[in-house]
Amino acid sequence: MSEKYAGISVQQICDVIDMLYPCMDDYVYVYDLENDYYYISPSAVKRFALPGAEFNNVVENHTLFVYPDDLGELQKDLDEIAGGRKDFHNLQYRWLSRDRKPIWINCRGTVIKENGRVHYMIGCINEIGTRQKADNISGLLGLSSLKAYFEENFYMMNSGYILRFGIDDFKAINEKLGIEYGDMLLRKTADCISSCLYSDQNLYRAMADEFLILDFGARSVEEALEQYVNVRYAIDRFVEDSHYEAVFTISGGILSSDAYKNCTFNDVMKFSEFALSEAKRDGKNRCWIFNYPAYEKFLKNRRLIQLLRKAVNNDFEGFEAYLQPLFDTKTGKLYGAESLMRFHTEEFGTVPPGVFIPLLEETCLIIPVGKWMLHKSLELCTKIHKTNPDFKISINISYIQVLKSNIISEILSAVSDYNIIPSTVIIELTESGILTPDSRVSKLRSRMKEQDISLALDDFGTGYSNFHYFNDLKPDIIKIDRSFTVKAIENDYEFNLLQLMINMAHSMELRVCVEGVETIAELERIKQLNPDYCQGYYFGRPCPFDEFMKLFVNEQ
Ligand code: C2E
Ligand code: CA
Ligand code: CA
Repeated sequence: MSEKYAGISVQQICDVIDMLYPCMDDYVYVYDLENDYYYISPSAVKRFALPGAEFNNVVENHTLFVYPDDLGELQKDLDEIAGGRKDFHNLQYRWLSRDRKPIWINCRGTVIKENGRVHYMIGCINEIGTRQKADNISGLLGLSSLKAYFEENFYMMNSGYILRFGIDDFKAINEKLGIEYGDMLLRKTADCISSCLYSDQNLYRAMADEFLILDFGARSVEEALEQYVNVRYAIDRFVEDSHYEAVFTISGGILSSDAYKNCTFNDVMKFSEFALSEAKRDGKNRCWIFNYPAYEKFLKNRRLIQLLRKAVNNDFEGFEAYLQPLFDTKTGKLYGAESLMRFHTEEFGTVPPGVFIPLLEETCLIIPVGKWMLHKSLELCTKIHKTNPDFKISINISYIQVLKSNIISEILSAVSDYNIIPSTVIIELTESGILTPDSRVSKLRSRMKEQDISLALDDFGTGYSNFHYFNDLKPDIIKIDRSFTVKAIENDYEFNLLQLMINMAHSMELRVCVEGVETIAELERIKQLNPDYCQGYYFGRPCPFDEFMKLFVNEQ
Protein backbone atom coordinates (compact mmCIF):
# COMPACT_ATOMS: atom_id res chain seq x y z
CA MET A 1 0.00 0.00 0.00
CA SER A 2 2.88 2.36 0.77
CA GLU A 3 3.89 2.27 -2.94
CA LYS A 4 0.50 3.60 -3.97
CA TYR A 5 1.42 7.21 -3.17
CA ALA A 6 4.95 7.00 -4.48
CA GLY A 7 4.31 9.63 -7.14
CA ILE A 8 3.56 12.36 -4.59
CA SER A 9 6.68 14.37 -3.87
CA VAL A 10 7.86 15.67 -0.50
CA GLN A 11 7.53 19.20 -1.82
CA GLN A 12 3.87 18.63 -2.68
CA ILE A 13 3.27 17.35 0.84
CA CYS A 14 4.94 20.42 2.33
CA ASP A 15 2.54 22.57 0.32
CA VAL A 16 -0.43 20.62 1.61
CA ILE A 17 0.85 21.03 5.18
CA ASP A 18 1.05 24.77 4.63
CA MET A 19 -2.53 24.80 3.40
CA LEU A 20 -3.86 22.71 6.24
CA TYR A 21 -2.04 23.74 9.37
CA PRO A 22 -4.03 26.94 10.10
CA CYS A 23 -7.15 24.76 10.27
CA MET A 24 -5.71 22.21 12.69
CA ASP A 25 -4.73 21.90 16.34
CA ASP A 26 -2.62 18.83 15.58
CA TYR A 27 0.67 18.98 13.73
CA VAL A 28 1.29 17.33 10.36
CA TYR A 29 4.81 16.37 9.38
CA VAL A 30 6.78 14.76 6.62
CA TYR A 31 10.11 13.05 7.24
CA ASP A 32 12.13 12.55 4.08
CA LEU A 33 14.47 9.70 4.97
CA GLU A 34 16.27 9.74 1.65
CA ASN A 35 17.33 13.36 1.96
CA ASP A 36 17.42 13.47 5.78
CA TYR A 37 14.89 16.33 5.77
CA TYR A 38 11.95 17.10 8.07
CA TYR A 39 9.04 19.50 7.72
CA ILE A 40 6.25 20.08 10.27
CA SER A 41 3.27 22.45 10.62
CA PRO A 42 4.83 25.84 11.41
CA SER A 43 2.44 26.15 14.41
CA ALA A 44 4.47 23.41 16.14
CA VAL A 45 7.46 25.75 16.40
CA LYS A 46 5.50 27.98 18.77
CA ARG A 47 4.82 25.05 21.05
CA PHE A 48 7.92 22.84 20.95
CA ALA A 49 11.67 23.33 21.22
CA LEU A 50 12.08 22.58 17.48
CA PRO A 51 15.01 24.12 15.56
CA GLY A 52 12.44 25.38 13.01
CA ALA A 53 9.56 24.12 10.88
CA GLU A 54 12.11 22.50 8.55
CA PHE A 55 15.50 21.04 9.25
CA ASN A 56 18.07 18.47 8.11
CA ASN A 57 20.18 16.10 10.24
CA VAL A 58 16.95 14.76 11.63
CA VAL A 59 18.36 12.19 14.08
CA GLU A 60 20.80 14.68 15.52
CA ASN A 61 18.20 17.41 15.76
CA HIS A 62 15.83 15.13 17.62
CA THR A 63 18.02 15.61 20.68
CA LEU A 64 16.89 19.24 20.77
CA PHE A 65 13.20 18.64 21.20
CA VAL A 66 12.67 15.02 22.29
CA TYR A 67 12.60 14.35 26.03
CA PRO A 68 16.01 12.71 26.69
CA ASP A 69 14.59 9.58 28.37
CA ASP A 70 12.49 8.83 25.28
CA LEU A 71 15.20 9.25 22.63
CA GLY A 72 16.31 5.61 22.71
CA GLU A 73 12.86 4.23 22.12
CA LEU A 74 12.20 6.68 19.27
CA GLN A 75 15.52 5.90 17.62
CA LYS A 76 14.84 2.18 17.75
CA ASP A 77 11.51 2.65 15.99
CA LEU A 78 12.99 4.97 13.35
CA ASP A 79 15.83 2.47 12.70
CA GLU A 80 13.27 -0.23 11.94
CA ILE A 81 11.49 2.12 9.56
CA ALA A 82 14.73 3.14 7.82
CA GLY A 83 15.68 -0.53 7.51
CA GLY A 84 12.36 -1.25 5.79
CA ARG A 85 11.21 -3.60 8.53
CA LYS A 86 8.27 -1.44 9.56
CA ASP A 87 5.67 0.47 7.53
CA PHE A 88 3.85 2.31 10.25
CA HIS A 89 5.14 4.46 13.07
CA ASN A 90 2.95 4.71 16.16
CA LEU A 91 4.59 5.91 19.33
CA GLN A 92 3.55 7.75 22.47
CA TYR A 93 6.44 9.67 23.96
CA ARG A 94 7.44 13.13 25.12
CA TRP A 95 8.61 16.21 23.30
CA LEU A 96 10.00 19.29 25.01
CA SER A 97 8.00 22.50 25.01
CA ARG A 98 9.74 25.79 24.27
CA ASP A 99 10.21 26.26 28.02
CA ARG A 100 11.68 22.73 28.11
CA LYS A 101 8.84 20.95 29.89
CA PRO A 102 7.96 17.40 28.78
CA ILE A 103 4.75 17.24 26.75
CA TRP A 104 3.16 13.88 25.95
CA ILE A 105 2.47 13.38 22.26
CA ASN A 106 1.14 10.60 20.11
CA CYS A 107 3.05 10.41 16.84
CA ARG A 108 1.76 8.31 13.98
CA GLY A 109 3.15 8.07 10.46
CA THR A 110 2.76 6.08 7.25
CA VAL A 111 5.93 5.02 5.47
CA ILE A 112 5.95 5.69 1.72
CA LYS A 113 8.24 3.51 -0.36
CA GLU A 114 9.38 3.82 -3.92
CA ASN A 115 10.61 0.73 -5.73
CA GLY A 116 11.01 -1.01 -2.38
CA ARG A 117 13.14 1.80 -0.94
CA VAL A 118 11.96 3.84 2.00
CA HIS A 119 11.35 7.34 0.68
CA TYR A 120 9.51 9.32 3.34
CA MET A 121 7.10 9.12 6.21
CA ILE A 122 4.03 11.33 6.52
CA GLY A 123 2.04 11.62 9.69
CA CYS A 124 0.45 13.57 12.43
CA ILE A 125 1.36 14.51 15.97
CA ASN A 126 -1.21 15.25 18.60
CA GLU A 127 -0.90 16.19 22.26
CA ILE A 128 -2.43 13.64 24.54
CA GLY A 129 -1.84 15.24 27.94
CA THR A 130 -3.62 18.54 28.27
CA ARG A 131 -5.52 20.96 26.10
CA GLN A 132 -8.92 19.49 26.63
CA LYS A 133 -11.25 21.73 24.68
CA ALA A 134 -14.53 20.21 25.65
CA ASP A 135 -15.73 18.00 28.40
CA ASN A 136 -18.04 15.15 27.59
CA ILE A 137 -19.02 14.57 31.22
CA SER A 138 -20.53 17.97 31.82
CA GLY A 139 -21.27 18.61 28.15
CA LEU A 140 -19.47 21.94 28.40
CA LEU A 141 -16.46 23.54 26.81
CA GLY A 142 -13.22 23.23 28.78
CA LEU A 143 -10.41 25.42 30.00
CA SER A 144 -8.53 25.90 26.73
CA SER A 145 -11.71 27.04 24.98
CA LEU A 146 -12.31 29.43 27.84
CA LYS A 147 -8.81 30.80 27.42
CA ALA A 148 -9.22 31.24 23.68
CA TYR A 149 -12.60 32.92 24.05
CA PHE A 150 -11.36 35.15 26.83
CA GLU A 151 -8.32 36.28 24.89
CA GLU A 152 -10.31 36.98 21.75
CA ASN A 153 -12.92 38.99 23.60
CA PHE A 154 -10.74 40.61 26.21
CA TYR A 155 -11.21 44.04 24.64
CA MET A 156 -14.87 43.83 25.65
CA MET A 157 -14.04 43.05 29.25
CA ASN A 158 -14.39 46.49 30.74
CA SER A 159 -17.74 45.47 32.11
CA GLY A 160 -19.38 42.32 33.39
CA TYR A 161 -18.01 39.62 35.67
CA ILE A 162 -16.66 36.15 36.12
CA LEU A 163 -18.56 33.85 38.41
CA ARG A 164 -16.73 30.69 39.37
CA PHE A 165 -18.54 27.78 41.02
CA GLY A 166 -17.17 24.85 42.95
CA ILE A 167 -19.13 21.89 44.29
CA ASP A 168 -18.52 21.61 48.03
CA ASP A 169 -16.79 18.43 49.20
CA PHE A 170 -17.01 16.80 45.79
CA LYS A 171 -14.20 14.40 46.66
CA ALA A 172 -16.26 13.01 49.53
CA ILE A 173 -19.26 12.53 47.22
CA ASN A 174 -17.08 10.60 44.79
CA GLU A 175 -15.71 8.47 47.58
CA LYS A 176 -19.10 7.74 49.12
CA LEU A 177 -21.24 7.29 46.03
CA GLY A 178 -18.73 6.32 43.36
CA ILE A 179 -17.16 8.04 40.38
CA GLU A 180 -20.11 7.35 38.08
CA TYR A 181 -22.47 9.04 40.48
CA GLY A 182 -19.97 11.90 40.73
CA ASP A 183 -19.97 12.25 36.94
CA MET A 184 -23.77 12.33 36.90
CA LEU A 185 -23.70 15.03 39.56
CA LEU A 186 -21.26 17.10 37.50
CA ARG A 187 -23.59 16.88 34.54
CA LYS A 188 -26.61 17.84 36.67
CA THR A 189 -24.73 20.72 38.23
CA ALA A 190 -23.77 21.94 34.76
CA ASP A 191 -27.49 21.73 33.84
CA CYS A 192 -28.50 23.66 36.97
CA ILE A 193 -26.01 26.43 36.19
CA SER A 194 -27.02 26.45 32.51
CA SER A 195 -30.66 26.91 33.51
CA CYS A 196 -29.68 30.18 35.25
CA LEU A 197 -27.59 31.49 32.37
CA TYR A 198 -28.45 34.66 30.43
CA SER A 199 -28.38 34.22 26.67
CA ASP A 200 -25.27 36.36 26.21
CA GLN A 201 -23.21 34.49 28.82
CA ASN A 202 -20.90 31.52 28.35
CA LEU A 203 -20.43 28.61 30.73
CA TYR A 204 -17.28 26.48 30.94
CA ARG A 205 -16.06 23.62 33.05
CA ALA A 206 -12.92 25.10 34.58
CA MET A 207 -11.50 21.98 36.17
CA ALA A 208 -12.50 18.93 38.20
CA ASP A 209 -15.60 20.17 40.02
CA GLU A 210 -15.50 23.82 39.00
CA PHE A 211 -17.54 25.82 36.52
CA LEU A 212 -17.15 29.33 35.27
CA ILE A 213 -19.60 31.85 33.88
CA LEU A 214 -18.13 34.55 31.68
CA ASP A 215 -20.32 37.63 31.48
CA PHE A 216 -19.59 40.33 28.94
CA GLY A 217 -23.07 41.75 29.36
CA ALA A 218 -22.22 44.78 31.52
CA ARG A 219 -23.95 43.19 34.49
CA SER A 220 -23.08 44.22 38.02
CA VAL A 221 -21.64 42.33 40.97
CA GLU A 222 -25.10 42.45 42.57
CA GLU A 223 -26.47 40.64 39.56
CA ALA A 224 -23.67 38.10 39.84
CA LEU A 225 -24.68 37.48 43.45
CA GLU A 226 -28.29 37.08 42.40
CA GLN A 227 -27.21 34.60 39.75
CA TYR A 228 -25.26 32.63 42.34
CA VAL A 229 -28.37 32.46 44.56
CA ASN A 230 -30.44 31.28 41.59
CA VAL A 231 -27.96 28.48 40.95
CA ARG A 232 -28.13 27.49 44.59
CA TYR A 233 -31.92 27.25 44.35
CA ALA A 234 -31.64 25.16 41.21
CA ILE A 235 -29.24 22.79 43.01
CA ASP A 236 -31.55 22.61 46.04
CA ARG A 237 -34.43 21.66 43.76
CA PHE A 238 -32.32 18.96 42.11
CA VAL A 239 -31.37 17.57 45.53
CA GLU A 240 -35.05 17.52 46.50
CA ASP A 241 -36.11 15.90 43.21
CA SER A 242 -33.48 13.19 43.62
CA HIS A 243 -34.95 12.41 47.06
CA TYR A 244 -31.87 13.56 48.93
CA GLU A 245 -29.73 10.76 47.55
CA ALA A 246 -26.79 13.15 47.55
CA VAL A 247 -27.20 16.31 49.54
CA PHE A 248 -24.62 18.76 48.32
CA THR A 249 -24.01 22.48 48.09
CA ILE A 250 -22.14 24.82 45.83
CA SER A 251 -19.84 27.77 46.55
CA GLY A 252 -19.13 30.74 44.32
CA GLY A 253 -16.39 33.31 43.73
CA ILE A 254 -17.16 36.55 41.93
CA LEU A 255 -14.65 38.64 40.06
CA SER A 256 -15.92 41.98 38.83
CA SER A 257 -14.35 43.30 35.63
CA ASP A 258 -12.96 46.26 37.63
CA ALA A 259 -10.71 43.79 39.42
CA TYR A 260 -8.99 42.44 36.32
CA LYS A 261 -8.43 45.34 34.00
CA ASN A 262 -5.02 44.94 32.34
CA CYS A 263 -4.68 41.42 33.70
CA THR A 264 -3.69 38.26 31.88
CA PHE A 265 -5.88 35.20 31.61
CA ASN A 266 -3.69 33.52 34.23
CA ASP A 267 -4.30 36.37 36.68
CA VAL A 268 -8.01 36.14 36.11
CA MET A 269 -7.92 32.41 36.81
CA LYS A 270 -5.86 32.97 39.97
CA PHE A 271 -8.17 35.73 41.25
CA SER A 272 -11.35 33.78 40.63
CA GLU A 273 -9.82 30.69 42.20
CA PHE A 274 -8.88 32.75 45.24
CA ALA A 275 -12.43 34.16 45.55
CA LEU A 276 -13.88 30.65 45.36
CA SER A 277 -11.46 29.22 47.89
CA GLU A 278 -12.28 32.07 50.30
CA ALA A 279 -15.98 31.18 49.97
CA LYS A 280 -15.10 27.60 50.87
CA ARG A 281 -12.86 28.68 53.73
CA ASP A 282 -15.70 30.85 55.04
CA GLY A 283 -17.80 27.74 55.51
CA LYS A 284 -18.93 26.76 51.97
CA ASN A 285 -22.43 27.08 50.46
CA ARG A 286 -21.79 30.79 50.01
CA CYS A 287 -20.38 33.32 47.61
CA TRP A 288 -17.35 35.56 48.01
CA ILE A 289 -16.51 38.70 46.06
CA PHE A 290 -12.88 39.21 45.11
CA ASN A 291 -11.11 42.24 46.58
CA TYR A 292 -7.49 43.27 46.33
CA PRO A 293 -6.73 43.88 50.04
CA ALA A 294 -7.75 40.31 50.88
CA TYR A 295 -5.74 38.96 47.96
CA GLU A 296 -2.73 40.97 49.08
CA LYS A 297 -3.11 39.58 52.58
CA PHE A 298 -3.22 36.10 51.11
CA LEU A 299 -0.04 36.81 49.11
CA LYS A 300 1.60 38.27 52.21
CA ASN A 301 0.73 35.13 54.18
CA ARG A 302 2.16 33.02 51.39
CA ARG A 303 5.35 35.06 51.53
CA LEU A 304 5.41 34.73 55.31
CA ILE A 305 5.12 30.97 54.99
CA GLN A 306 8.16 31.05 52.69
CA LEU A 307 10.07 33.11 55.24
CA LEU A 308 9.00 30.82 58.10
CA ARG A 309 10.13 27.76 56.19
CA LYS A 310 13.40 29.42 55.30
CA ALA A 311 13.95 30.35 58.94
CA VAL A 312 13.25 26.77 60.05
CA ASN A 313 15.79 25.47 57.55
CA ASN A 314 18.26 28.13 58.59
CA ASP A 315 18.66 26.96 62.17
CA PHE A 316 15.54 28.88 63.32
CA GLU A 317 17.13 32.22 62.57
CA GLY A 318 14.62 34.98 63.35
CA PHE A 319 12.68 33.06 65.99
CA GLU A 320 13.04 34.19 69.57
CA ALA A 321 11.53 33.22 72.91
CA TYR A 322 10.26 36.18 74.91
CA LEU A 323 9.36 35.82 78.56
CA GLN A 324 6.42 37.38 80.38
CA PRO A 325 6.33 37.21 84.20
CA LEU A 326 3.66 35.43 86.24
CA PHE A 327 3.18 36.60 89.80
CA ASP A 328 1.87 34.75 92.81
CA THR A 329 -1.12 36.81 93.95
CA LYS A 330 -0.86 35.89 97.64
CA THR A 331 2.86 36.47 98.17
CA GLY A 332 3.28 39.09 95.43
CA LYS A 333 6.43 37.24 94.36
CA LEU A 334 7.58 36.17 90.93
CA TYR A 335 6.15 32.71 90.24
CA GLY A 336 7.57 32.07 86.79
CA ALA A 337 7.23 33.13 83.17
CA GLU A 338 5.27 32.25 80.10
CA SER A 339 7.50 31.73 77.11
CA LEU A 340 6.06 33.46 74.02
CA MET A 341 7.34 33.09 70.51
CA ARG A 342 8.46 36.01 68.37
CA PHE A 343 9.41 36.06 64.67
CA HIS A 344 11.68 38.82 63.37
CA THR A 345 12.05 39.41 59.63
CA GLU A 346 13.85 42.03 57.56
CA GLU A 347 10.92 42.30 55.20
CA PHE A 348 8.04 42.74 57.66
CA GLY A 349 9.79 43.58 60.93
CA THR A 350 8.59 41.63 63.98
CA VAL A 351 5.49 39.68 63.02
CA PRO A 352 2.82 39.24 65.75
CA PRO A 353 2.20 35.64 66.89
CA GLY A 354 -1.49 36.06 66.12
CA VAL A 355 -0.42 36.24 62.46
CA PHE A 356 2.36 33.69 62.19
CA ILE A 357 1.27 30.97 64.68
CA PRO A 358 -1.81 30.06 62.57
CA LEU A 359 0.48 29.85 59.51
CA LEU A 360 2.87 27.58 61.38
CA GLU A 361 -0.09 25.41 62.34
CA GLU A 362 -1.56 25.38 58.84
CA THR A 363 1.76 24.21 57.40
CA CYS A 364 2.63 21.94 60.37
CA LEU A 365 5.87 23.92 60.70
CA ILE A 366 4.72 24.37 64.30
CA ILE A 367 6.10 20.87 64.88
CA PRO A 368 9.80 21.80 64.39
CA VAL A 369 9.35 25.37 65.66
CA GLY A 370 7.41 24.21 68.74
CA LYS A 371 10.19 21.75 69.48
CA TRP A 372 12.74 24.51 69.13
CA MET A 373 10.67 26.71 71.52
CA LEU A 374 10.49 23.86 74.00
CA HIS A 375 14.27 23.51 74.02
CA LYS A 376 14.92 27.26 74.02
CA SER A 377 12.50 27.84 76.90
CA LEU A 378 14.08 25.08 78.99
CA GLU A 379 17.54 26.43 78.21
CA LEU A 380 16.53 29.89 79.45
CA CYS A 381 14.86 28.36 82.48
CA THR A 382 18.02 26.53 83.54
CA LYS A 383 19.83 29.88 83.54
CA ILE A 384 17.18 31.40 85.81
CA HIS A 385 17.26 28.33 88.07
CA LYS A 386 20.85 29.20 89.00
CA THR A 387 19.56 32.08 91.12
CA ASN A 388 15.90 31.12 91.47
CA PRO A 389 15.51 27.32 91.61
CA ASP A 390 11.70 27.37 92.11
CA PHE A 391 11.09 29.44 88.99
CA LYS A 392 8.43 27.92 86.72
CA ILE A 393 8.55 28.00 82.95
CA SER A 394 5.24 27.84 81.11
CA ILE A 395 5.46 26.64 77.49
CA ASN A 396 2.69 26.78 74.88
CA ILE A 397 2.07 23.62 72.89
CA SER A 398 -0.16 23.63 69.85
CA TYR A 399 -2.77 20.92 69.37
CA ILE A 400 -1.06 20.17 66.03
CA GLN A 401 2.01 19.10 67.98
CA VAL A 402 -0.18 16.88 70.14
CA LEU A 403 -2.00 15.29 67.22
CA LYS A 404 0.79 15.06 64.66
CA SER A 405 4.09 14.68 66.49
CA ASN A 406 5.51 12.60 69.25
CA ILE A 407 5.19 15.43 71.72
CA ILE A 408 5.24 13.28 74.86
CA SER A 409 8.68 11.85 74.30
CA GLU A 410 9.94 15.23 73.07
CA ILE A 411 8.89 16.92 76.29
CA LEU A 412 10.27 14.12 78.46
CA SER A 413 13.60 13.89 76.68
CA ALA A 414 14.01 17.71 76.61
CA VAL A 415 13.33 17.88 80.36
CA SER A 416 15.92 15.17 80.97
CA ASP A 417 18.45 16.69 78.47
CA TYR A 418 18.40 20.00 80.33
CA ASN A 419 18.40 18.18 83.65
CA ILE A 420 15.53 20.33 84.79
CA ILE A 421 13.30 19.56 87.78
CA PRO A 422 10.06 18.43 86.04
CA SER A 423 7.83 20.14 88.58
CA THR A 424 9.13 23.52 87.40
CA VAL A 425 7.75 22.91 83.91
CA ILE A 426 4.19 23.85 82.87
CA ILE A 427 2.76 22.91 79.51
CA GLU A 428 -0.05 25.18 78.23
CA LEU A 429 -2.67 23.68 75.96
CA THR A 430 -5.53 25.58 74.34
CA GLU A 431 -8.95 24.09 74.77
CA SER A 432 -10.21 25.24 71.35
CA GLY A 433 -7.99 22.80 69.46
CA ILE A 434 -8.91 19.84 71.61
CA LEU A 435 -12.64 20.19 72.14
CA THR A 436 -13.34 16.53 71.88
CA PRO A 437 -11.46 14.26 74.23
CA ASP A 438 -8.69 12.56 72.31
CA SER A 439 -6.71 9.52 73.40
CA ARG A 440 -3.45 11.26 72.52
CA VAL A 441 -4.35 14.12 74.86
CA SER A 442 -5.24 11.76 77.72
CA LYS A 443 -2.01 9.86 77.16
CA LEU A 444 -0.02 13.08 77.18
CA ARG A 445 -1.82 14.06 80.37
CA SER A 446 -1.11 10.82 82.23
CA ARG A 447 2.56 10.72 81.20
CA MET A 448 2.97 14.30 82.37
CA LYS A 449 1.35 13.48 85.68
CA GLU A 450 3.68 10.51 86.18
CA GLN A 451 6.63 12.83 85.62
CA ASP A 452 5.21 15.66 87.77
CA ILE A 453 5.02 18.14 84.87
CA SER A 454 2.06 20.54 85.22
CA LEU A 455 -0.62 21.16 82.65
CA ALA A 456 -2.35 24.52 82.18
CA LEU A 457 -5.57 24.92 80.22
CA ASP A 458 -5.07 28.10 78.21
CA ASP A 459 -7.59 30.58 76.76
CA PHE A 460 -10.27 29.67 79.29
CA GLY A 461 -13.40 31.76 78.74
CA THR A 462 -13.07 31.99 74.96
CA GLY A 463 -15.05 29.77 72.65
CA TYR A 464 -16.76 26.86 74.25
CA SER A 465 -15.85 26.44 77.88
CA ASN A 466 -16.55 22.91 78.68
CA PHE A 467 -16.49 21.92 82.31
CA HIS A 468 -16.63 18.25 81.39
CA TYR A 469 -13.31 18.77 79.81
CA PHE A 470 -11.81 19.53 83.21
CA ASN A 471 -12.65 16.03 84.20
CA ASP A 472 -11.06 14.46 81.13
CA LEU A 473 -7.98 16.61 81.13
CA LYS A 474 -7.58 17.28 84.85
CA PRO A 475 -5.41 20.35 84.35
CA ASP A 476 -3.40 21.73 87.25
CA ILE A 477 -3.93 25.34 86.25
CA ILE A 478 -6.62 27.22 84.36
CA LYS A 479 -5.60 30.37 82.55
CA ILE A 480 -8.41 32.92 82.25
CA ASP A 481 -8.19 34.70 78.92
CA ARG A 482 -7.96 38.48 78.86
CA SER A 483 -11.29 38.79 77.03
CA PHE A 484 -12.99 37.21 80.04
CA THR A 485 -10.93 39.31 82.48
CA VAL A 486 -11.98 42.52 80.70
CA LYS A 487 -15.65 41.53 80.78
CA ALA A 488 -15.44 40.69 84.48
CA ILE A 489 -13.92 44.07 85.28
CA GLU A 490 -16.58 45.96 83.32
CA ASN A 491 -19.66 43.97 84.17
CA ASP A 492 -20.96 42.70 87.54
CA TYR A 493 -22.69 39.69 86.07
CA GLU A 494 -19.47 38.55 84.39
CA PHE A 495 -17.57 39.32 87.57
CA ASN A 496 -19.84 37.04 89.58
CA LEU A 497 -19.62 34.37 86.91
CA LEU A 498 -15.84 34.47 87.02
CA GLN A 499 -15.98 34.36 90.82
CA LEU A 500 -18.13 31.21 90.66
CA MET A 501 -15.82 29.61 88.17
CA ILE A 502 -12.73 30.34 90.22
CA ASN A 503 -14.43 28.99 93.37
CA MET A 504 -15.44 25.90 91.48
CA ALA A 505 -11.92 25.41 90.11
CA HIS A 506 -10.52 25.78 93.62
CA SER A 507 -12.98 23.23 94.97
CA MET A 508 -11.64 20.86 92.31
CA GLU A 509 -8.12 21.65 93.51
CA LEU A 510 -7.20 23.49 90.35
CA ARG A 511 -5.17 26.67 90.46
CA VAL A 512 -6.19 29.75 88.49
CA CYS A 513 -4.11 32.30 86.62
CA VAL A 514 -5.83 35.51 85.48
CA GLU A 515 -4.29 36.88 82.30
CA GLY A 516 -4.29 40.39 80.86
CA VAL A 517 -4.13 42.53 83.98
CA GLU A 518 -3.09 45.91 82.64
CA THR A 519 -3.51 48.44 85.46
CA ILE A 520 -3.34 48.67 89.23
CA ALA A 521 -7.11 49.31 89.31
CA GLU A 522 -7.72 46.10 87.37
CA LEU A 523 -5.41 44.23 89.71
CA GLU A 524 -7.27 45.47 92.78
CA ARG A 525 -10.59 44.27 91.36
CA ILE A 526 -9.17 40.94 90.19
CA LYS A 527 -7.55 40.28 93.56
CA GLN A 528 -11.05 40.13 95.08
CA LEU A 529 -11.58 36.98 93.03
CA ASN A 530 -8.69 35.33 94.80
CA PRO A 531 -6.84 33.88 91.79
CA ASP A 532 -3.57 32.07 92.45
CA TYR A 533 -1.51 33.84 89.81
CA CYS A 534 -1.74 36.99 87.71
CA GLN A 535 -0.13 37.89 84.41
CA GLY A 536 -0.39 41.06 82.36
CA TYR A 537 1.17 44.27 81.15
CA TYR A 538 0.80 45.73 84.64
CA PHE A 539 3.49 43.30 85.83
CA GLY A 540 5.46 43.30 82.63
CA ARG A 541 5.18 42.78 78.91
CA PRO A 542 6.78 39.80 77.19
CA CYS A 543 10.44 40.74 76.67
CA PRO A 544 13.77 39.24 75.57
CA PHE A 545 15.64 37.07 78.06
CA ASP A 546 18.32 39.63 79.07
CA GLU A 547 15.71 42.25 79.80
CA PHE A 548 13.66 39.72 81.76
CA MET A 549 16.72 38.87 83.87
CA LYS A 550 17.39 42.55 84.57
CA LEU A 551 13.80 43.45 85.37
CA PHE A 552 12.53 40.41 87.26
CA VAL A 553 15.32 38.05 88.31
CA ASN A 554 18.45 40.00 89.23
CA GLU A 555 16.45 42.78 90.83
CA GLN A 556 14.84 40.49 93.38
P1 C2E B 1 -1.56 33.26 74.87
O1 C2E B 1 -0.93 31.94 75.08
O2 C2E B 1 -2.89 33.48 75.46
O3 C2E B 1 -0.52 34.32 75.39
C1 C2E B 1 -0.87 35.48 76.10
C2 C2E B 1 -0.95 36.63 75.16
O4 C2E B 1 -1.51 37.74 75.85
C3 C2E B 1 0.42 37.08 74.69
O5 C2E B 1 0.26 37.54 73.37
C4 C2E B 1 0.71 38.25 75.60
O6 C2E B 1 1.61 39.18 75.05
C5 C2E B 1 -0.66 38.85 75.73
N1 C2E B 1 -0.78 39.63 76.95
C6 C2E B 1 -0.20 39.41 78.13
N2 C2E B 1 -0.57 40.34 79.02
C7 C2E B 1 -1.41 41.18 78.39
C8 C2E B 1 -2.14 42.35 78.79
O7 C2E B 1 -2.07 42.81 79.90
N3 C2E B 1 -2.91 42.94 77.85
C9 C2E B 1 -3.02 42.48 76.58
N4 C2E B 1 -3.78 43.12 75.73
N5 C2E B 1 -2.35 41.36 76.17
C10 C2E B 1 -1.56 40.73 77.08
P2 C2E B 1 1.28 37.16 72.24
O8 C2E B 1 2.65 37.03 72.77
O9 C2E B 1 1.00 38.11 71.14
O10 C2E B 1 0.83 35.70 71.82
C11 C2E B 1 -0.39 35.49 71.24
C12 C2E B 1 -0.71 34.03 71.18
O11 C2E B 1 0.16 33.33 70.31
C13 C2E B 1 -0.56 33.31 72.51
O12 C2E B 1 -1.67 33.57 73.32
C14 C2E B 1 -0.47 31.87 72.06
O13 C2E B 1 -1.75 31.38 71.77
C15 C2E B 1 0.29 32.01 70.78
N6 C2E B 1 1.70 31.70 71.04
C16 C2E B 1 2.70 32.50 71.42
N7 C2E B 1 3.86 31.82 71.57
C17 C2E B 1 3.57 30.52 71.26
C18 C2E B 1 4.34 29.32 71.20
O14 C2E B 1 5.54 29.27 71.50
N8 C2E B 1 3.69 28.18 70.82
C19 C2E B 1 2.37 28.20 70.51
N9 C2E B 1 1.80 27.03 70.14
N10 C2E B 1 1.61 29.29 70.56
C20 C2E B 1 2.20 30.45 70.93
CA1 CA C 1 -0.51 30.65 76.67
CA1 CA D 1 -3.69 32.66 77.36
